[in-house]
Amino acid sequence: MSKRTPISFEFFPPKTDAGAEKLRTVHQELQRLNPEFFSITYGAGGSTRERTLAAINDFNGQGTPVAPHLSCIGDSKLRIAELLDLYKRQGIDRIVALRGDLPSGQVGLGELPYAQDLVRFIREHSGDHFQIEVAAYPEMHPQAENFDADIKRFIEKVNAGANAAITQFFFNPDSYFYFVERIQKEGIHIPVAPGIMPITNASNLIRFADGTGAEIPRWIRKQLQAYGDDTQSIKAFGHEVILKLCERLIDGGAPSLHFYSMNNTEPTRQLVIDLGLN
Ligand code: FAD
Repeated sequence: MSKRTPISFEFFPPKTDAGAEKLRTVHQELQRLNPEFFSITYGAGGSTRERTLAAINDFNGQGTPVAPHLSCIGDSKLRIAELLDLYKRQGIDRIVALRGDLPSGQVGLGELPYAQDLVRFIREHSGDHFQIEVAAYPEMHPQAENFDADIKRFIEKVNAGANAAITQFFFNPDSYFYFVERIQKEGIHIPVAPGIMPITNASNLIRFADGTGAEIPRWIRKQLQAYGDDTQSIKAFGHEVILKLCERLIDGGAPSLHFYSMNNTEPTRQLVIDLGLN
């Protein structure tokens, strides 16, 4: 029997008490699918610091490891060091290290302007305590000069001490396979987990894709537009498209799948079950 592909789920820190309560239920439901870890995002410049910490406190020690995201742009080494020390005391041993995006109007990149600076700083400050995950962009980071330049920056980030990567979401599996092939040719063999964004709502998807530079293939965009307000059809189509994407990724050797749950149990749960990964 082939080995089950590991899965992980991403949450963002809720803004309200009701959101936090709902997320506890989602966490319980998704935990039953035996994920490797849950990750919790962190707003650039420390903008969600307290809320990220509250979510980490809610879920740490509940059976499945939690991995805080940590972004560096606009933040200070001192504040980042405090968080690293706190996480270490709490028994956390995995961090998703990112640059982040400064809110418009905010200037000043801070002491660590790029993710590679953060990775280097974590290694200097905490040694090998943390498994460090970094972001990867099969369809290129939107601010990169070109694909080759982005690959070069990615490799620098790995050489600074990253152990693994999670990708931005994408719908074209070939872009993922090409990315992995390119870094392997450069001697980089860390696991790169595809980031999977379930499709449930056309306008949200287009908004996220526009913000992240992820490409929505024309055939998907047109079909979603054609469904209009027919949410049942959008969900059924979205399920089919993402299921096929995941199957191709697993068949092609993806080491694990990281689901952007958007703080909802469905449709992630159904995808995991239909893939036989629970
Ligand atoms: P970097 O790796 O630093 O790259 C950013 C850009 O700078 C790229 O274009 C790169 O080519 C270029 N670059 C890198 N190094 C240099 C250098 N030395 N000189 C010049 N150019 C350079 N954002 C959040 O705020 N909070 C989160 O919790 C969060 N979670 C995420 C999780 C995942 C899995 C992913 C894929 C993204 C996440 N993001 C998050 C978004 C991320 O912060 C943005 O995409 C951000 O714009 C880039 O972050 P990075 O870590 O990839 O940056």
